[in-house]
Amino acid sequence: MRTRRRPAPAPPEPPAAPVPLLDWRDGPHFAWHERCVLCRKTTPLRSHAGEAVHKTCVELWNAEHPGETRFVSDPPKGGKGKDHA
Ligand SMILES: [Zn+2]
Repeated sequence: MRTRRRPAPAPPEPPAAPVPLLDWRDGPHFAWHERCVLCRKTTPLRSHAGEAVHKTCVELWNAEHPGETRFVSDPPKGGKGKDHA
C-alpha cells in the first residue's frame, strides 16, 4: 500500500505593493547609452539627476525603497487644465 503524501506547493509570494510606474517620456530622459546604475546594462534613459538607469530598474528600486525620492516621475503636464486661453 502506498500513501502518497505530497507536500503542498508553496504559494507564490504576492508582491508587497503594486509597483508604481513612472512617467519618463520627456526628451531630457534620453541620451547616449550608458551603464544603468542599478543593473549595469546599457540604457539611453536618464533619471532627473542624470543617472543612467532603466525605468523598470527604477520602478523596482522604488518598490524596494519606499519613501525615497531618488527617482521620481515627471510632473503631469497640464493637459487637463481648466484655463483655456
Ligand atoms: Zn537597469
